[in-house]
Amino acid sequence: MVIAGGGPAGLSLACLAGDLGLRVAVVDRQREDALAHPPPDGRDIALTHRSVRILDEIGVWGALSPKDIAPIRSARVKNADQPHLLCFDPEGAGREALGYLVSNQVLRRELYRAARQRASVELLAGETAGELQLGAWTASLALSSGKVLEAPLLVAADSRFSELRRKVGIGADMRDFGHLCIVCHLRHEKPHDGTAHEWFDTDQTLAVLPLNEQTSSIVLTQPASTAARSLSMPASAFAAAIEQRLDRRWGSMQLDGERHAYPLVAVYADRFCARRLALVGDAAVGMHPVTAHGFNFGLQGAETLARKVGDAIGAGSDIGAPSVLESYDRMHRRATLPLYLATNAIVGLYTDNRMPARIVRSALLRIANSLSPVKDFMLRKLTECDVAQGPARRALHLLRSHS
Ligand SMILES: Cc1cc2nc3c(=O)[nH]c(=O)nc-3n(C[C@H](O)[C@H](O)[C@H](O)COP(=O)(O)OP(=O)(O)OC[C@H]3O[C@@H](n4cnc5c(N)ncnc54)[C@H](O)[C@@H]3O)c2cc1C
Repeated sequence: MVIAGGGPAGLSLACLAGDLGLRVAVVDRQREDALAHPPPDGRDIALTHRSVRILDEIGVWGALSPKDIAPIRSARVKNADQPHLLCFDPEGAGREALGYLVSNQVLRRELYRAARQRASVELLAGETAGELQLGAWTASLALSSGKVLEAPLLVAADSRFSELRRKVGIGADMRDFGHLCIVCHLRHEKPHDGTAHEWFDTDQTLAVLPLNEQTSSIVLTQPASTAARSLSMPASAFAAAIEQRLDRRWGSMQLDGERHAYPLVAVYADRFCARRLALVGDAAVGMHPVTAHGFNFGLQGAETLARKVGDAIGAGSDIGAPSVLESYDRMHRRATLPLYLATNAIVGLYTDNRMPARIVRSALLRIANSLSPVKDFMLRKLTECDVAQGPARRALHLLRSHS
């Protein structure tokens, strides 16, 4: 198998496929040292219970240090300054935590290490994927060095703006929200209680996610022009503005590190496969971060594809056959499309400042909070608490024994 893109999704798939006994080549345009020691990018990834289980299976979860994992014990969603809250508590999920935050920097580093440790996985860093040919029996990919790789299955995991996806003519639903997402860490005077907060405010959303050591991860989405002002503010003024927005609930706040900004563009590929090619990670489904599902879907897709490929190996058949890839396409589409559409609808509704939208969102929040079946359904979807508990339990015990 050849995987174009050694980001979190590509590396996860490489580990899963390598463990099936396949020889896997991963190509990434970044240099080896950038993959081995990724710089901070401000993103803290909220992992569901399913993701924790997959990361455990590939040897990444167990390698994390307790200080790298921050449990989310409960969550509160608020609409502007209205008093109604949508509350998610761990009892509803039958778990001790709704999910776990791990920085993207740590995930990338540990996934690189896990892939490097596998003799079955070859990493080709500093190589850009170029032209590709999809034949009846093999796919070939030309690299910037002039090397050509050939395999029965080529996987594009080259980001939501995937060049390979475009080259094979797969279109995508792309929604540019015209907003920027600013992420950073703030240290605060008072401790938090492990609760994640999300505010849908006039023309902006603000999430405050509980990290370790009296620090929170801030995710602020604003229209591009407002975000430019937020980014150019002195660090102290930026921290003071957030502190004020939070009614000084956590006391005084200071910026810890840099602010990072990302354009908010959601992407959903028209198809997740073509002849001898599969799309994985953001190349298939690039989510708006408000429901924290991009990498969770990336992991789920990698696992689904690896299972289909594993079934083909077990049956002694072709791993890149149309039946294998179409079955992956159907299953991953079923798993992701409802939340993709719901996320975009929520973002549309909660960033629309006209009166009818304001009335609807306030009512929705109240209804969702008071109807237990609706709330339980949302909780199950967002946390994937139905999957086996082993790794998450171990994480909590580890955290406790270190605190
Ligand atoms: C602010 C923010 C917060 C987020 N929070 C969450 C969260 O809480 N939970 C969650 O699940 N997800 C979250 N996400 C989403 C998550 O970060 C992404 O889904 C995930 O990083 C996608 O991984 P990927 O490997 O598909 O793509 P990428 O991370 O984009 O990696 C793509 C890789 O491909 C390489 N590449 C690209 N083109 C080529 C080429 N032509 N040749 C060779 N290499 C190439 C790149 O160098 C890169 O290494 C968040 C995203 C943002 C922006």
